[in-house]
Amino acid sequence: MCGIIGYIGERQAHPILLGCLKRLEYRGYDSCGIAIAGNSINVYKNTVRAEELRKAAPQLDGTLGIGHTRWATHGQPSQANAHPHCDCDGKIAVVHNGIITNFQGLKQKLIHEGHKFISETDTEIIPHLIEKYYRGDLERAVEAALDDIEGSYAIIVLMASEDKLVAARKDSPLIIGLGDRENFIASDVPAILDYTNRVIYLEEGDMGVVTKDNIKIRRDGIEINREEHKISWSVDEAQRGGYEHFMLKEIHEQPRVIRDTLVGRVSVAEPTVDLAAMRDKGIESMLILACGTSYHAALTGKYIIEELLRIPVRVELASEFICYGQTLTGTEAIVITQSGETADILRAMRRLKEVGCQVLAITNVVGSTASRIADQTIYTRAGPEISVAATKSFMAQLMVLYWLIMSYSKVDSRRLASMLLALRQMPSKVQQVLNNGYKILEHANNLSGYDNVFFIARGINFPIALEGALKLKEISYIHAEGYAAGELKHGPFALLRSDTPVIAIVAQDNTYEAMLTNIREIKARSSPVIALAEEGDEVIGGLVDSVITVPQVDAIFSPVVNTVALQLLAYYTAKQRGCPIDFPRNLAKSVTVE
Ligand code: GLU
Repeated sequence: MCGIIGYIGERQAHPILLGCLKRLEYRGYDSCGIAIAGNSINVYKNTVRAEELRKAAPQLDGTLGIGHTRWATHGQPSQANAHPHCDCDGKIAVVHNGIITNFQGLKQKLIHEGHKFISETDTEIIPHLIEKYYRGDLERAVEAALDDIEGSYAIIVLMASEDKLVAARKDSPLIIGLGDRENFIASDVPAILDYTNRVIYLEEGDMGVVTKDNIKIRRDGIEINREEHKISWSVDEAQRGGYEHFMLKEIHEQPRVIRDTLVGRVSVAEPTVDLAAMRDKGIESMLILACGTSYHAALTGKYIIEELLRIPVRVELASEFICYGQTLTGTEAIVITQSGETADILRAMRRLKEVGCQVLAITNVVGSTASRIADQTIYTRAGPEISVAATKSFMAQLMVLYWLIMSYSKVDSRRLASMLLALRQMPSKVQQVLNNGYKILEHANNLSGYDNVFFIARGINFPIALEGALKLKEISYIHAEGYAAGELKHGPFALLRSDTPVIAIVAQDNTYEAMLTNIREIKARSSPVIALAEEGDEVIGGLVDSVITVPQVDAIFSPVVNTVALQLLAYYTAKQRGCPIDFPRNLAKSVTVE
Protein backbone atom coordinates (compact mmCIF):
# COMPACT_ATOMS: atom_id res chain seq x y z
CA MET A 1 0.00 0.00 0.00
CA CYS A 2 1.19 3.52 -0.69
CA GLY A 3 -0.16 6.87 -1.78
CA ILE A 4 0.13 8.35 -5.27
CA ILE A 5 -0.76 11.80 -6.56
CA GLY A 6 -0.69 13.68 -9.85
CA TYR A 7 -1.30 17.37 -10.55
CA ILE A 8 -1.81 19.29 -13.78
CA GLY A 9 -2.91 22.92 -13.82
CA GLU A 10 -1.68 26.49 -13.72
CA ARG A 11 -0.12 26.55 -10.28
CA GLN A 12 3.32 25.32 -9.24
CA ALA A 13 2.97 21.56 -8.82
CA HIS A 14 5.76 21.11 -6.27
CA PRO A 15 4.06 22.44 -3.08
CA ILE A 16 0.70 20.99 -4.10
CA LEU A 17 2.13 17.49 -4.58
CA LEU A 18 3.92 17.55 -1.22
CA GLY A 19 0.80 18.83 0.56
CA CYS A 20 -1.25 16.02 -1.00
CA LEU A 21 1.37 13.42 -0.10
CA LYS A 22 1.22 14.48 3.53
CA ARG A 23 -2.51 13.74 3.46
CA LEU A 24 -1.78 10.26 2.09
CA GLU A 25 0.77 9.20 4.68
CA TYR A 26 -1.74 6.98 6.46
CA ARG A 27 -1.19 4.72 3.42
CA GLY A 28 2.59 4.49 3.90
CA TYR A 29 5.55 6.71 4.63
CA ASP A 30 8.90 4.90 4.46
CA SER A 31 10.08 7.19 1.67
CA CYS A 32 8.62 9.69 -0.75
CA GLY A 33 9.36 11.56 -3.93
CA ILE A 34 8.09 13.84 -6.67
CA ALA A 35 8.74 14.31 -10.37
CA ILE A 36 7.97 17.56 -12.20
CA ALA A 37 7.88 17.81 -15.97
CA GLY A 38 9.25 20.56 -18.15
CA ASN A 39 11.44 19.94 -21.17
CA SER A 40 12.92 17.17 -19.10
CA ILE A 41 11.75 15.53 -15.89
CA ASN A 42 13.19 16.53 -12.52
CA VAL A 43 12.93 13.94 -9.79
CA TYR A 44 13.53 14.46 -6.09
CA LYS A 45 13.08 11.54 -3.69
CA ASN A 46 14.46 10.17 -0.45
CA THR A 47 13.79 7.99 2.58
CA VAL A 48 11.92 10.73 4.42
CA ARG A 49 8.34 11.79 4.95
CA ALA A 50 6.66 14.51 2.88
CA GLU A 51 7.31 17.30 5.39
CA GLU A 52 11.05 16.60 5.48
CA LEU A 53 11.16 16.31 1.70
CA ARG A 54 9.46 19.70 1.50
CA LYS A 55 12.20 21.23 3.66
CA ALA A 56 15.05 19.49 1.84
CA ALA A 57 13.95 19.56 -1.81
CA PRO A 58 15.15 22.29 -4.17
CA GLN A 59 12.24 24.18 -5.76
CA LEU A 60 11.32 22.19 -8.87
CA ASP A 61 9.67 24.44 -11.40
CA GLY A 62 6.60 23.28 -13.33
CA THR A 63 2.83 22.94 -13.30
CA LEU A 64 2.65 19.24 -14.07
CA GLY A 65 3.93 16.51 -11.76
CA ILE A 66 3.47 13.29 -9.84
CA GLY A 67 4.30 12.16 -6.30
CA HIS A 68 4.47 9.04 -4.17
CA THR A 69 4.63 8.13 -0.50
CA ARG A 70 5.87 4.56 -0.24
CA TRP A 71 5.22 1.48 1.87
CA ALA A 72 7.78 -0.83 0.37
CA THR A 73 6.90 -4.27 -0.92
CA HIS A 74 9.88 -4.92 -3.23
CA GLY A 75 13.25 -3.66 -2.04
CA GLN A 76 14.20 -1.83 1.13
CA PRO A 77 13.22 1.77 1.73
CA SER A 78 16.11 3.59 0.01
CA GLN A 79 16.58 6.55 -2.28
CA ALA A 80 17.00 4.30 -5.32
CA ASN A 81 13.86 2.32 -4.53
CA ALA A 82 11.71 5.38 -3.75
CA HIS A 83 9.29 6.44 -6.48
CA PRO A 84 8.94 8.04 -9.03
CA HIS A 85 10.86 5.65 -11.28
CA CYS A 86 12.10 6.61 -14.73
CA ASP A 87 13.01 5.07 -18.08
CA CYS A 88 16.60 5.06 -19.42
CA ASP A 89 16.43 8.59 -20.83
CA GLY A 90 14.68 10.11 -17.84
CA LYS A 91 11.79 11.19 -20.09
CA ILE A 92 9.07 9.01 -18.55
CA ALA A 93 8.33 8.91 -14.82
CA VAL A 94 5.91 6.58 -13.06
CA VAL A 95 4.43 6.27 -9.57
CA HIS A 96 2.87 2.97 -8.65
CA ASN A 97 0.78 1.46 -5.88
CA GLY A 98 0.60 -2.33 -5.97
CA ILE A 99 2.63 -5.40 -6.80
CA ILE A 100 3.76 -6.56 -10.25
CA THR A 101 3.98 -10.33 -9.86
CA ASN A 102 5.76 -11.12 -13.14
CA PHE A 103 8.32 -8.32 -12.93
CA GLN A 104 11.35 -10.57 -12.68
CA GLY A 105 10.87 -12.19 -16.08
CA LEU A 106 10.02 -8.86 -17.71
CA LYS A 107 13.04 -7.21 -16.12
CA GLN A 108 15.43 -9.89 -17.43
CA LYS A 109 13.98 -9.46 -20.90
CA LEU A 110 14.29 -5.68 -20.76
CA ILE A 111 17.89 -5.92 -19.51
CA HIS A 112 18.63 -8.22 -22.41
CA GLU A 113 17.16 -5.57 -24.72
CA GLY A 114 19.53 -2.97 -23.28
CA HIS A 115 17.46 -1.30 -20.55
CA LYS A 116 19.33 -0.29 -17.42
CA PHE A 117 17.78 -0.61 -13.97
CA ILE A 118 18.82 1.14 -10.81
CA SER A 119 16.31 -0.07 -8.21
CA GLU A 120 15.19 -3.38 -6.74
CA THR A 121 11.51 -2.51 -7.18
CA ASP A 122 8.93 -4.25 -9.31
CA THR A 123 7.71 -0.78 -10.35
CA GLU A 124 10.78 0.20 -12.37
CA ILE A 125 9.84 -2.11 -15.23
CA ILE A 126 6.79 0.07 -15.97
CA PRO A 127 8.58 3.18 -17.30
CA HIS A 128 10.95 0.90 -19.24
CA LEU A 129 8.07 -0.98 -20.84
CA ILE A 130 6.38 2.31 -21.75
CA GLU A 131 9.66 3.52 -23.25
CA LYS A 132 9.92 0.30 -25.24
CA TYR A 133 6.42 0.65 -26.68
CA TYR A 134 6.35 4.43 -27.18
CA ARG A 135 5.84 5.41 -30.84
CA GLY A 136 4.53 8.92 -30.34
CA ASP A 137 1.29 7.93 -28.55
CA LEU A 138 1.63 7.78 -24.77
CA GLU A 139 -1.78 6.19 -24.09
CA ARG A 140 -1.06 3.36 -26.54
CA ALA A 141 2.36 2.79 -25.01
CA VAL A 142 0.86 2.62 -21.51
CA GLU A 143 -1.81 0.18 -22.72
CA ALA A 144 0.83 -2.02 -24.35
CA ALA A 145 2.95 -1.97 -21.18
CA LEU A 146 -0.03 -2.90 -19.02
CA ASP A 147 -0.81 -5.82 -21.32
CA ASP A 148 2.54 -7.33 -20.34
CA ILE A 149 2.02 -6.85 -16.62
CA GLU A 150 0.44 -9.21 -14.10
CA GLY A 151 -0.48 -8.24 -10.56
CA SER A 152 -2.05 -5.14 -9.07
CA TYR A 153 -1.45 -1.52 -9.88
CA ALA A 154 -2.60 2.02 -9.69
CA ILE A 155 -0.18 4.09 -11.75
CA ILE A 156 0.29 7.65 -12.91
CA VAL A 157 2.57 8.29 -15.87
CA LEU A 158 4.28 11.56 -16.65
CA MET A 159 6.21 12.21 -19.84
CA ALA A 160 8.38 15.19 -20.65
CA SER A 161 6.88 17.22 -23.48
CA GLU A 162 3.40 15.65 -23.07
CA ASP A 163 0.92 18.04 -21.48
CA LYS A 164 -1.10 15.36 -19.73
CA LEU A 165 -1.07 12.64 -17.11
CA VAL A 166 -2.05 9.06 -17.88
CA ALA A 167 -3.43 6.91 -15.07
CA ALA A 168 -4.61 3.32 -14.89
CA ARG A 169 -5.74 0.90 -12.24
CA LYS A 170 -6.23 -2.78 -11.48
CA ASP A 171 -6.93 -3.99 -7.92
CA SER A 172 -5.59 -0.74 -6.41
CA PRO A 173 -7.74 2.37 -5.97
CA LEU A 174 -7.48 5.56 -8.00
CA ILE A 175 -9.58 8.72 -8.24
CA ILE A 176 -9.58 11.86 -10.35
CA GLY A 177 -10.16 15.19 -8.59
CA LEU A 178 -11.77 17.88 -10.70
CA GLY A 179 -10.65 21.47 -10.19
CA ASP A 180 -10.99 24.77 -11.98
CA ARG A 181 -8.40 24.81 -14.79
CA GLU A 182 -6.55 22.13 -12.85
CA ASN A 183 -7.04 18.44 -12.17
CA PHE A 184 -5.69 15.81 -9.82
CA ILE A 185 -5.21 12.06 -9.76
CA ALA A 186 -4.81 10.33 -6.39
CA SER A 187 -4.97 7.02 -4.57
CA ASP A 188 -7.67 8.32 -2.33
CA VAL A 189 -9.96 11.27 -1.62
CA PRO A 190 -8.19 12.86 1.39
CA ALA A 191 -5.19 13.72 -0.80
CA ILE A 192 -7.10 16.34 -2.74
CA LEU A 193 -9.76 17.63 -0.36
CA ASP A 194 -7.81 20.83 0.30
CA TYR A 195 -8.30 21.68 -3.39
CA THR A 196 -11.54 20.12 -4.55
CA ASN A 197 -14.42 17.94 -3.43
CA ARG A 198 -15.45 16.90 -6.96
CA VAL A 199 -14.31 13.38 -7.65
CA ILE A 200 -14.53 10.64 -10.28
CA TYR A 201 -13.78 7.08 -9.12
CA LEU A 202 -11.88 5.07 -11.71
CA GLU A 203 -13.11 1.49 -12.01
CA GLU A 204 -11.11 -1.70 -12.56
CA GLY A 205 -9.39 -1.59 -15.93
CA ASP A 206 -10.04 2.14 -16.54
CA MET A 207 -7.42 4.40 -18.00
CA GLY A 208 -7.68 8.13 -17.31
CA VAL A 209 -6.07 10.76 -19.52
CA VAL A 210 -6.02 14.05 -17.68
CA THR A 211 -5.11 17.53 -18.91
CA LYS A 212 -5.71 20.78 -17.07
CA ASP A 213 -9.11 21.33 -18.72
CA ASN A 214 -10.17 17.87 -19.72
CA ILE A 215 -10.69 14.30 -18.48
CA LYS A 216 -10.91 11.31 -20.80
CA ILE A 217 -11.63 7.85 -19.48
CA ARG A 218 -10.88 4.87 -21.71
CA ARG A 219 -11.64 1.24 -21.32
CA ASP A 220 -10.37 -1.34 -23.79
CA GLY A 221 -9.53 1.56 -26.07
CA ILE A 222 -13.10 2.99 -26.06
CA GLU A 223 -13.97 6.30 -24.40
CA ILE A 224 -16.57 6.08 -21.63
CA ASN A 225 -18.22 8.36 -19.07
CA ARG A 226 -17.95 8.05 -15.32
CA GLU A 227 -20.19 9.87 -12.89
CA GLU A 228 -18.88 12.79 -10.85
CA HIS A 229 -19.33 12.63 -7.04
CA LYS A 230 -19.40 15.45 -4.47
CA ILE A 231 -17.53 14.56 -1.29
CA SER A 232 -18.84 15.99 1.97
CA TRP A 233 -16.23 14.36 4.27
CA SER A 234 -13.56 16.27 6.15
CA VAL A 235 -9.94 15.25 5.52
CA ASP A 236 -9.94 13.29 8.80
CA GLU A 237 -13.10 11.42 7.88
CA ALA A 238 -11.77 10.73 4.42
CA GLN A 239 -8.53 9.30 5.82
CA ARG A 240 -10.66 6.90 7.80
CA GLY A 241 -12.51 6.12 4.57
CA GLY A 242 -15.70 7.47 6.12
CA TYR A 243 -15.48 4.96 8.99
CA GLU A 244 -15.70 6.30 12.51
CA HIS A 245 -12.39 4.74 13.53
CA PHE A 246 -9.28 3.44 11.81
CA MET A 247 -9.89 0.11 13.51
CA LEU A 248 -13.21 -0.34 11.74
CA LYS A 249 -11.67 0.73 8.44
CA GLU A 250 -8.82 -1.73 8.92
CA ILE A 251 -11.23 -4.54 9.78
CA HIS A 252 -13.03 -3.77 6.52
CA GLU A 253 -9.77 -3.74 4.57
CA GLN A 254 -9.20 -7.40 5.28
CA PRO A 255 -10.60 -8.86 2.04
CA ARG A 256 -8.10 -6.67 0.18
CA VAL A 257 -5.30 -7.52 2.61
CA ILE A 258 -5.89 -11.23 2.02
CA ARG A 259 -5.68 -10.70 -1.73
CA ASP A 260 -2.56 -8.52 -1.50
CA THR A 261 -0.80 -10.93 0.81
CA LEU A 262 -1.45 -13.87 -1.47
CA VAL A 263 -0.98 -12.18 -4.84
CA GLY A 264 1.90 -13.77 -6.73
CA ARG A 265 2.28 -16.35 -3.96
CA VAL A 266 -0.75 -18.54 -4.35
CA SER A 267 -2.40 -19.53 -7.58
CA VAL A 268 -4.71 -22.39 -8.26
CA ALA A 269 -3.07 -22.98 -11.61
CA GLU A 270 0.41 -23.45 -10.17
CA PRO A 271 -0.03 -24.69 -6.66
CA THR A 272 3.68 -24.78 -5.89
CA VAL A 273 5.76 -22.09 -4.36
CA ASP A 274 9.47 -21.73 -4.91
CA LEU A 275 10.09 -21.53 -1.18
CA ALA A 276 9.21 -25.19 -0.82
CA ALA A 277 12.17 -26.71 -2.54
CA MET A 278 14.58 -24.43 -0.73
CA ARG A 279 13.26 -24.68 2.75
CA ASP A 280 11.78 -27.90 3.86
CA LYS A 281 14.63 -30.32 3.42
CA GLY A 282 15.67 -31.87 6.71
CA ILE A 283 13.27 -29.89 8.89
CA GLU A 284 12.16 -32.01 11.83
CA SER A 285 10.50 -29.42 14.04
CA MET A 286 9.61 -25.78 14.23
CA LEU A 287 10.01 -23.06 16.80
CA ILE A 288 7.83 -19.96 16.44
CA LEU A 289 8.35 -16.88 18.59
CA ALA A 290 5.98 -13.93 18.80
CA CYS A 291 4.25 -11.52 21.19
CA GLY A 292 0.67 -10.29 21.68
CA THR A 293 -1.62 -10.74 18.70
CA SER A 294 1.23 -12.18 16.60
CA TYR A 295 1.58 -14.89 19.26
CA HIS A 296 -1.99 -15.92 18.51
CA ALA A 297 -1.14 -16.12 14.81
CA ALA A 298 1.85 -18.29 15.78
CA LEU A 299 -0.34 -20.60 17.87
CA THR A 300 -2.80 -20.92 14.98
CA GLY A 301 0.18 -21.79 12.79
CA LYS A 302 1.08 -24.60 15.18
CA TYR A 303 -2.27 -26.30 14.57
CA ILE A 304 -1.96 -25.90 10.81
CA ILE A 305 1.61 -27.20 10.73
CA GLU A 306 0.94 -30.17 12.95
CA GLU A 307 -2.10 -31.14 10.89
CA LEU A 308 -0.49 -30.71 7.49
CA LEU A 309 3.18 -31.46 8.09
CA ARG A 310 3.01 -33.80 11.10
CA ILE A 311 6.08 -32.28 12.71
CA PRO A 312 6.23 -30.95 16.27
CA VAL A 313 5.94 -27.18 16.72
CA ARG A 314 6.97 -25.19 19.76
CA VAL A 315 5.41 -21.74 20.07
CA GLU A 316 6.87 -19.39 22.65
CA LEU A 317 6.30 -15.87 23.79
CA ALA A 318 9.43 -14.02 22.70
CA SER A 319 9.64 -12.35 26.12
CA GLU A 320 9.87 -15.79 27.76
CA PHE A 321 12.32 -17.30 25.32
CA ILE A 322 15.45 -18.54 26.99
CA CYS A 323 17.89 -20.57 25.02
CA TYR A 324 20.54 -22.28 27.11
CA GLY A 325 22.47 -23.23 24.04
CA GLN A 326 20.70 -26.46 23.28
CA THR A 327 21.19 -27.43 19.69
CA LEU A 328 18.42 -26.44 17.36
CA THR A 329 19.63 -28.48 14.39
CA GLY A 330 16.75 -29.52 12.20
CA THR A 331 14.53 -26.83 13.73
CA GLU A 332 13.00 -24.17 11.55
CA ALA A 333 12.90 -20.95 13.61
CA ILE A 334 10.27 -18.37 12.72
CA VAL A 335 9.52 -15.03 14.34
CA ILE A 336 6.32 -13.09 13.74
CA THR A 337 6.22 -9.35 14.37
CA GLN A 338 3.97 -6.72 12.81
CA SER A 339 6.37 -3.81 13.23
CA GLY A 340 9.62 -5.73 12.95
CA GLU A 341 10.86 -3.60 15.85
CA THR A 342 9.41 -5.44 18.88
CA ALA A 343 12.24 -5.46 21.42
CA ASP A 344 11.43 -8.92 22.83
CA ILE A 345 11.53 -10.39 19.33
CA LEU A 346 14.81 -8.74 18.42
CA ARG A 347 16.44 -10.02 21.61
CA ALA A 348 15.20 -13.55 20.93
CA MET A 349 16.35 -13.38 17.31
CA ARG A 350 19.84 -12.34 18.34
CA ARG A 351 19.96 -15.23 20.79
CA LEU A 352 18.87 -17.66 18.07
CA LYS A 353 21.59 -16.36 15.78
CA GLU A 354 24.18 -16.76 18.58
CA VAL A 355 23.38 -20.46 18.80
CA GLY A 356 23.73 -20.79 15.04
CA CYS A 357 20.06 -20.95 14.11
CA GLN A 358 18.74 -19.65 10.78
CA VAL A 359 15.76 -17.38 11.37
CA LEU A 360 12.80 -16.63 9.13
CA ALA A 361 10.94 -13.40 9.98
CA ILE A 362 7.32 -12.69 9.11
CA THR A 363 6.77 -8.94 9.35
CA ASN A 364 4.76 -6.10 7.89
CA VAL A 365 7.57 -3.58 7.55
CA VAL A 366 10.13 -3.83 4.78
CA GLY A 367 13.60 -2.90 6.03
CA SER A 368 12.62 -3.25 9.72
CA THR A 369 15.27 -4.40 12.20
CA ALA A 370 13.78 -7.91 12.31
CA SER A 371 14.10 -8.19 8.54
CA ARG A 372 17.73 -7.13 8.75
CA ILE A 373 18.60 -9.66 11.46
CA ALA A 374 16.67 -12.51 9.80
CA ASP A 375 18.19 -14.86 7.23
CA GLN A 376 14.99 -14.66 5.26
CA THR A 377 11.90 -12.47 5.52
CA ILE A 378 8.35 -12.84 4.30
CA TYR A 379 6.37 -9.63 4.22
CA THR A 380 2.72 -9.57 5.14
CA ARG A 381 1.66 -6.64 2.90
CA ALA A 382 -1.09 -5.43 5.23
CA GLY A 383 -0.08 -1.80 4.69
CA PRO A 384 0.32 0.56 7.63
CA GLU A 385 -1.96 -0.25 10.54
CA ILE A 386 -2.89 2.90 12.39
CA SER A 387 -5.23 1.62 15.07
CA VAL A 388 -3.25 0.29 18.03
CA ALA A 389 -5.33 -2.90 18.15
CA ALA A 390 -4.01 -5.26 15.49
CA THR A 391 -6.62 -6.54 13.03
CA LYS A 392 -5.58 -6.62 9.39
CA SER A 393 -1.94 -7.30 10.28
CA PHE A 394 -3.05 -10.45 12.15
CA MET A 395 -5.08 -11.54 9.12
CA ALA A 396 -2.07 -11.02 6.86
CA GLN A 397 0.09 -13.07 9.27
CA LEU A 398 -2.43 -15.91 9.11
CA MET A 399 -2.35 -15.77 5.31
CA VAL A 400 1.44 -15.90 5.20
CA LEU A 401 1.39 -18.89 7.56
CA TYR A 402 -1.17 -20.76 5.44
CA TRP A 403 0.86 -20.05 2.32
CA LEU A 404 4.19 -20.91 3.89
CA ILE A 405 2.93 -24.18 5.31
CA MET A 406 1.14 -25.11 2.09
CA SER A 407 4.38 -24.57 0.23
CA TYR A 408 6.08 -27.46 2.01
CA SER A 409 6.43 -30.50 -0.15
CA LYS A 410 5.12 -32.77 2.62
CA VAL A 411 1.56 -31.50 2.12
CA ASP A 412 -0.60 -34.06 0.39
CA SER A 413 -1.29 -32.80 -3.14
CA ARG A 414 -5.05 -33.42 -3.05
CA ARG A 415 -5.36 -31.61 0.28
CA LEU A 416 -3.26 -28.81 -1.14
CA ALA A 417 -5.52 -28.42 -4.18
CA SER A 418 -8.69 -28.24 -2.06
CA MET A 419 -7.07 -25.78 0.34
CA LEU A 420 -5.96 -23.55 -2.52
CA LEU A 421 -9.51 -23.38 -3.79
CA ALA A 422 -10.80 -22.60 -0.31
CA LEU A 423 -8.12 -19.98 0.19
CA ARG A 424 -9.18 -18.20 -2.98
CA GLN A 425 -12.65 -17.81 -1.48
CA MET A 426 -11.40 -16.22 1.74
CA PRO A 427 -11.81 -12.58 0.64
CA SER A 428 -15.48 -13.17 -0.20
CA LYS A 429 -16.08 -15.22 2.98
CA VAL A 430 -14.60 -12.38 5.04
CA GLN A 431 -16.72 -9.93 3.09
CA GLN A 432 -19.81 -11.91 4.08
CA VAL A 433 -18.88 -11.58 7.76
CA LEU A 434 -18.43 -7.84 7.27
CA ASN A 435 -21.75 -7.52 5.46
CA ASN A 436 -23.44 -9.16 8.45
CA GLY A 437 -21.62 -6.90 10.90
CA TYR A 438 -24.84 -5.11 11.84
CA LYS A 439 -26.08 -8.36 13.40
CA ILE A 440 -23.04 -8.47 15.68
CA LEU A 441 -23.88 -4.97 16.89
CA GLU A 442 -26.81 -6.29 18.89
CA HIS A 443 -24.64 -8.89 20.68
CA ALA A 444 -22.07 -6.19 21.42
CA ASN A 445 -24.64 -3.88 22.99
CA ASN A 446 -25.59 -6.72 25.27
CA LEU A 447 -21.98 -7.62 26.10
CA SER A 448 -21.03 -4.04 26.91
CA GLY A 449 -22.88 -4.20 30.23
CA TYR A 450 -20.70 -6.98 31.70
CA ASP A 451 -17.40 -6.73 33.59
CA ASN A 452 -16.02 -10.22 32.88
CA VAL A 453 -16.21 -12.37 29.77
CA PHE A 454 -14.76 -15.76 28.82
CA PHE A 455 -13.89 -16.78 25.26
CA ILE A 456 -13.59 -20.51 24.71
CA ALA A 457 -12.77 -22.84 21.84
CA ARG A 458 -10.94 -26.02 21.03
CA GLY A 459 -8.30 -26.97 18.47
CA ILE A 460 -7.35 -24.50 15.80
CA ASN A 461 -9.83 -21.93 17.15
CA PHE A 462 -8.34 -21.93 20.64
CA PRO A 463 -5.83 -19.20 19.62
CA ILE A 464 -8.75 -17.29 18.11
CA ALA A 465 -10.51 -17.38 21.50
CA LEU A 466 -7.32 -15.89 22.98
CA GLU A 467 -7.29 -13.25 20.26
CA GLY A 468 -10.99 -12.46 20.72
CA ALA A 469 -10.40 -11.93 24.44
CA LEU A 470 -7.32 -9.81 23.81
CA LYS A 471 -9.20 -7.58 21.34
CA LEU A 472 -12.06 -7.10 23.77
CA LYS A 473 -9.88 -6.25 26.76
CA GLU A 474 -7.56 -3.88 24.93
CA ILE A 475 -10.22 -1.67 23.39
CA SER A 476 -13.31 -2.05 25.60
CA TYR A 477 -11.48 -2.45 28.95
CA ILE A 478 -13.75 -5.38 29.85
CA HIS A 479 -11.84 -8.12 31.65
CA ALA A 480 -11.76 -11.00 29.18
CA GLU A 481 -10.10 -14.42 29.36
CA GLY A 482 -9.44 -16.73 26.47
CA TYR A 483 -9.54 -20.37 27.51
CA ALA A 484 -9.26 -23.81 25.98
CA ALA A 485 -12.84 -25.04 26.40
CA GLY A 486 -11.74 -28.24 28.13
CA GLU A 487 -9.80 -26.28 30.75
CA LEU A 488 -12.70 -24.33 32.26
CA LYS A 489 -13.56 -27.19 34.54
CA HIS A 490 -10.03 -27.12 35.96
CA GLY A 491 -10.59 -23.87 37.82
CA PRO A 492 -12.45 -21.09 36.01
CA PHE A 493 -15.79 -22.82 36.60
CA ALA A 494 -15.60 -21.20 40.04
CA LEU A 495 -16.11 -17.84 38.33
CA LEU A 496 -19.11 -18.76 36.20
CA ARG A 497 -22.28 -16.94 37.22
CA SER A 498 -25.21 -15.35 35.48
CA ASP A 499 -23.19 -12.14 35.10
CA THR A 500 -20.24 -13.87 33.39
CA PRO A 501 -21.01 -14.44 29.71
CA VAL A 502 -19.08 -17.00 27.70
CA ILE A 503 -18.39 -16.63 23.99
CA ALA A 504 -17.98 -20.11 22.53
CA ILE A 505 -16.43 -20.70 19.10
CA VAL A 506 -18.04 -23.82 17.70
CA ALA A 507 -16.28 -24.99 14.54
CA GLN A 508 -17.45 -27.81 12.29
CA ASP A 509 -14.43 -30.01 12.91
CA ASN A 510 -13.49 -32.87 15.18
CA THR A 511 -13.89 -30.64 18.24
CA TYR A 512 -17.61 -30.03 17.62
CA GLU A 513 -19.14 -32.64 19.95
CA ALA A 514 -16.72 -31.85 22.76
CA MET A 515 -17.59 -28.14 22.42
CA LEU A 516 -21.29 -28.94 22.78
CA THR A 517 -20.52 -30.89 25.97
CA ASN A 518 -18.55 -27.94 27.35
CA ILE A 519 -21.38 -25.56 26.50
CA ARG A 520 -23.87 -27.77 28.34
CA GLU A 521 -21.56 -27.75 31.39
CA ILE A 522 -21.45 -23.96 31.28
CA LYS A 523 -25.20 -23.59 30.88
CA ALA A 524 -25.66 -25.78 33.96
CA ARG A 525 -23.76 -23.05 35.85
CA SER A 526 -26.12 -20.34 34.56
CA SER A 527 -23.66 -18.24 32.50
CA PRO A 528 -25.12 -16.73 29.34
CA VAL A 529 -23.50 -18.29 26.26
CA ILE A 530 -23.08 -16.61 22.87
CA ALA A 531 -21.98 -19.12 20.24
CA LEU A 532 -19.98 -18.29 17.15
CA ALA A 533 -21.12 -20.99 14.77
CA GLU A 534 -21.31 -21.84 11.09
CA GLU A 535 -24.38 -21.10 9.01
CA GLY A 536 -26.51 -24.22 8.80
CA ASP A 537 -25.68 -25.49 12.30
CA GLU A 538 -29.17 -26.56 13.37
CA VAL A 539 -28.18 -27.80 16.81
CA ILE A 540 -26.35 -24.94 18.44
CA GLY A 541 -29.31 -22.54 18.66
CA GLY A 542 -31.10 -24.91 21.03
CA LEU A 543 -28.21 -24.92 23.51
CA VAL A 544 -27.11 -21.33 23.84
CA ASP A 545 -28.63 -17.91 24.49
CA SER A 546 -27.71 -16.41 21.13
CA VAL A 547 -25.71 -17.24 18.02
CA ILE A 548 -23.43 -15.21 15.78
CA THR A 549 -23.26 -17.03 12.47
CA VAL A 550 -20.25 -17.11 10.17
CA PRO A 551 -20.06 -18.52 6.62
CA GLN A 552 -19.21 -22.15 6.02
CA VAL A 553 -15.54 -22.72 5.24
CA ASP A 554 -13.06 -25.61 5.22
CA ALA A 555 -12.42 -26.10 8.96
CA ILE A 556 -8.74 -25.28 8.66
CA PHE A 557 -9.73 -21.75 7.57
CA SER A 558 -12.38 -21.26 10.26
CA PRO A 559 -9.97 -19.01 12.24
CA VAL A 560 -10.20 -16.50 9.38
CA VAL A 561 -13.95 -15.88 9.53
CA ASN A 562 -14.15 -16.29 13.32
CA THR A 563 -11.42 -13.71 13.83
CA VAL A 564 -13.30 -11.09 11.81
CA ALA A 565 -16.54 -11.70 13.72
CA LEU A 566 -14.71 -11.32 17.05
CA GLN A 567 -12.94 -8.16 15.89
CA LEU A 568 -16.34 -6.63 15.11
CA LEU A 569 -17.73 -7.82 18.45
CA ALA A 570 -14.86 -6.14 20.31
CA TYR A 571 -15.17 -3.00 18.20
CA TYR A 572 -18.89 -2.51 18.68
CA THR A 573 -18.66 -3.33 22.39
CA ALA A 574 -15.93 -0.72 22.88
CA LYS A 575 -17.95 1.77 20.89
CA GLN A 576 -21.02 1.19 23.01
CA ARG A 577 -18.86 1.84 26.10
CA GLY A 578 -17.53 5.09 24.60
CA CYS A 579 -13.86 3.99 24.61
CA PRO A 580 -11.11 5.74 22.58
CA ILE A 581 -10.90 2.81 20.19
CA ASP A 582 -7.92 3.69 18.02
CA PHE A 583 -5.69 4.74 20.89
CA PRO A 584 -6.50 2.63 23.97
CA ARG A 585 -5.03 3.79 27.26
CA ASN A 586 -1.51 2.69 28.22
CA LEU A 587 -0.84 0.96 24.90
CA ALA A 588 1.50 1.68 21.99
CA LYS A 589 1.57 0.36 18.45
CA SER A 590 5.18 -0.67 18.36
CA VAL A 591 6.58 -2.10 21.61
CA THR A 592 10.25 -1.25 21.55
CA VAL A 593 11.07 -1.97 25.20
CA GLU A 594 11.62 -5.39 26.77
N1 GLU B 1 5.66 -2.50 -5.19
C1 GLU B 1 6.03 -1.11 -5.14
C2 GLU B 1 7.28 -0.90 -4.31
O1 GLU B 1 7.68 -1.72 -3.53
C3 GLU B 1 4.88 -0.25 -4.62
C4 GLU B 1 4.61 -0.51 -3.19
C5 GLU B 1 3.24 -0.07 -2.67
O2 GLU B 1 2.26 -0.02 -3.35
O3 GLU B 1 3.22 0.18 -1.46
O4 GLU B 1 7.89 0.11 -4.46
